Amino acid sequence: MYGIFSYDNANPQVGFKYRDRILDLEKVRLLGHFGSIPIDEHVFLKPVLNDFIRLGQAIHQTIGQRINALLANDAIALADIQEQVFVPESKAQMHLPVSVGDYTDFYAGIHHAENVGRIFRPDGPPLPPNYKHMPVAYHGRASSIVVSGTPIRRPTGQFMEENGKNPVLCPTRALDFELELGLIIGKQSAFGEPVPVEDAEDYIFGVAVFNDWSARDIQRWEYQPLGPFLGKNFGSTLSAWVLPFYELEPVRIAGPVQEPAPLPYLQIHKPGHFDIDLEVWLQPADGEAICICRTNARNLYWNFAQMIAHHTVGGCNLNVGDVLATGTISGTLPNSCGSLLELTWNGERAIALSDTGMRTFLADGDTVTLRAFVQKDGNSLELGPATGLIYS
Ligand code: CA
Repeated sequence: MYGIFSYDNANPQVGFKYRDRILDLEKVRLLGHFGSIPIDEHVFLKPVLNDFIRLGQAIHQTIGQRINALLANDAIALADIQEQVFVPESKAQMHLPVSVGDYTDFYAGIHHAENVGRIFRPDGPPLPPNYKHMPVAYHGRASSIVVSGTPIRRPTGQFMEENGKNPVLCPTRALDFELELGLIIGKQSAFGEPVPVEDAEDYIFGVAVFNDWSARDIQRWEYQPLGPFLGKNFGSTLSAWVLPFYELEPVRIAGPVQEPAPLPYLQIHKPGHFDIDLEVWLQPADGEAICICRTNARNLYWNFAQMIAHHTVGGCNLNVGDVLATGTISGTLPNSCGSLLELTWNGERAIALSDTGMRTFLADGDTVTLRAFVQKDGNSLELGPATGLIYS
């Protein structure tokens, strides 16, 4: 996985995560290990991955192969220089991995969409009529996407008092997380040109873990008629590490049967889902972290290629570094819901923490950590994580 790190007051630069250490790619380059690869000599010294991403997937794969060869032989190739080329992750500071130009948040987790429908529209069908015809989304706010580890301030906003009489301006009383994956766009698409669904995965650089923090009381009061605004824009957490998309190939799986069949521009004739285990951990200020959700990315209804095809079908262009988040990924079991809104059924059923009481929504001092894992070559590889502490 690639990310941006700094160490010993040096400038932020590109690193490769290897277990609990970070490989300094500029030092590896200076040692000649990327010799014949056509890369700009400053590409690993940039404070964001965008220029590295622009090198394209063929070069990423070549660089990845060289790194893997070095690490496989690490006793030999790097034995004398371990101290020089590796930085312990615990001693590094991580930075936002990409300069995010635009951020779009989908709603592709069907069990989340059904749960939200049951909570807010108990008398109607859980899914809106468009849900199985297109991957719906809203355009989010890029400026407040922060790197994992950044504390999140409880937002103040306007919402309706519970008596339903008067709106108030005060700190949210219903602060929540949303468990999502974030796609990092790796290739520019042309303004006015749709990206065909069969080509859409070529536009993905990698996958990160993403928390779309949400203030449910603010959201509920403002979302009609135009959708999420201040209930979402106060902060979103992106993991520091991004896994190149091609690394997910071994865990590619078929998604759910899509019935009714979507329109032809959304029909893709290869499996487009991925077997990624997902977890949410909640640690109160004075207690142990406990796992409050386990689910899997196979619970998405729409796949990544379909999201990109739909996003661009009207000619909207994508840029390198854009973030496309999946929407909350929930399963069908009570402990597989990717938000407190669902886990507590809108605050009706508090969940028990370790020994410090109960939660409906987040308290100050809570730390939420989203984790993601893929099983590769007999090993469990962790993506992300995305973590954030709530304060006022
Ligand atoms: Ca969301």
